Amino acid sequence: MATAAVKSGKTSGQTSSKNGHWSKGLLASMNDPNLIVESDEHIVIIKDKYPKARYHFLILPREKIPNLKSLKANQVDLLQYMDERAQLLGARHPQVTFRYGYHAIPSMSQLHLHMISQDFDSPCLKTKRHWNSFNTRYFLDSEDVIRCLKERGTVISMTPVAGEKLLEQPLRCHKCVYAPQNMPKLKQHLLKHIDN
Ligand code: AMP
Ligand code: ZN
Repeated sequence: MATAAVKSGKTSGQTSSKNGHWSKGLLASMNDPNLIVESDEHIVIIKDKYPKARYHFLILPREKIPNLKSLKANQVDLLQYMDERAQLLGARHPQVTFRYGYHAIPSMSQLHLHMISQDFDSPCLKTKRHWNSFNTRYFLDSEDVIRCLKERGTVISMTPVAGEKLLEQPLRCHKCVYAPQNMPKLKQHLLKHIDN
């Protein structure tokens, strides 16, 4: 993998999209019938191509919005709508616990809300950085992002240094005090928390 891709957080398995740079891949996937779960005039919900859990969806606005930083105060309603659509999809899987949120420093262009089940049972979940991106303050809950935009008119951004620190922090189970030495140990441990 190229150094630039490692620095920018590119996930292994991601390849350049037909339309150009890999970081624009979500824009292509918004039109991929194999990935689209549902859509309307405002949003598209797709399956994450490299899911980090049994259920992992991305909710994207149709309007071109590169990232959290580019959000304006008048887009609170859109963010709220994305959240509502995600919750409605979640309600269709009553047996599954989801979290809804944004990566503080995303690797992919076009704003996307992650909706991820809390089993983290997936072969694509491989690295400490994957884990920490969903299980530290790097993962910003949707409701907190909405509140921030409502109250401040902008979403407070995280510095790259602070982001790196979170991604590199020691592993810790999200359900108990277990602090594994490595990802294989964590993945083995996580199975204990799954009811099936
Ligand atoms: P991030 O930009 O860090 O919030 O995460 C981007 C997410 O998009 C990751 O969960 C990837 O697995 C996923 N992903 C990467 N490329 C694609 C693609 N072409 N289509 C759908 N999902 C993708
Ligand atoms: Zn645990």
